[in-house]
Amino acid sequence: STAITLVDVEKTYHGDGVVTRALQSVTLTLDKGQFTAILGPSGSGKTTLLTLIGTLDRPTAGTIRYGDVDVLALKGKRIADFRFEHIGFVFQQFHLLPALTALENVMAPLFSRKVSYDKKARARELLAWVGLEAKSDALPSQLSGGEQQRVAIARALVNRPDWLLADEPTGNLDTRNSENIVKLLRTYQQEHGSGIVLITHDQTLADQADRIIEMRDGRIVSDSGKETG
Ligand code: ADP
Ligand code: ADP
Repeated sequence: STAITLVDVEKTYHGDGVVTRALQSVTLTLDKGQFTAILGPSGSGKTTLLTLIGTLDRPTAGTIRYGDVDVLALKGKRIADFRFEHIGFVFQQFHLLPALTALENVMAPLFSRKVSYDKKARARELLAWVGLEAKSDALPSQLSGGEQQRVAIARALVNRPDWLLADEPTGNLDTRNSENIVKLLRTYQQEHGSGIVLITHDQTLADQADRIIEMRDGRIVSDSGKETG
């Protein structure tokens, strides 16, 4: 796994004649294997930051590196391949494919990918890991919200990414399910040495992270936590 470094990152949106400076001079290093929570009010730039870290969009200015790799220099298929190798995503809306079973959803990122392992066996292993072995053949509509999010987590982890980026993954879940989801993320971090970046509104969940970054008006206004080196 590798550290992620952002230097002087800016993001400005131009839409309907409105200019929004969503991120302003963000400089940040996320150490490999670290569990970071991002807190902040709605509109403070959290999702924009996660989207840039995840290479799903490009900053208006600044640099983003994974270790020595300048991800902004990667284009087209190379950025898609980089993402597949290194990053898993989890969202508030689970974004499962409704016509596919739980197992097929977990396998979906592997479609048309060449990998060194057995895809179905790997997907089964991940579903078992999130406690849903018995629901392999269920459709998303037959699963609870907590179960759907566990399928989404299994899907995000199916290629064992170095980084898991989660945008309000517990936003639609009750306290018990939310705590279970964060526990799963924590366990993955510890078993696999992967880093986690979690956006949450919930201070109690954020308190379980190694580091808490607070955003306001597109800037980092506080950054606290244990040093992990
Ligand atoms: P948060 O995740 O903290 O709620 P966002 O990163 O979603 O914040 O948004 C930061 C600011 O950027 C907000 O003012 C939002 O309206 C604006 N914004 C986000 N995405 C877009 C977009 N695609 N086009 C225009 N403005 C956007
Ligand atoms: P290998 O890396 O040699 O394939 P394993 O598959 O047994 O070895 O996994 C190595 C470690 O990773 C073990 O501690 C195992 O519990 C853990 N592990 C395996 N699969 C996962 C997973 N999907 N998510 C998190 N940890 C996992």
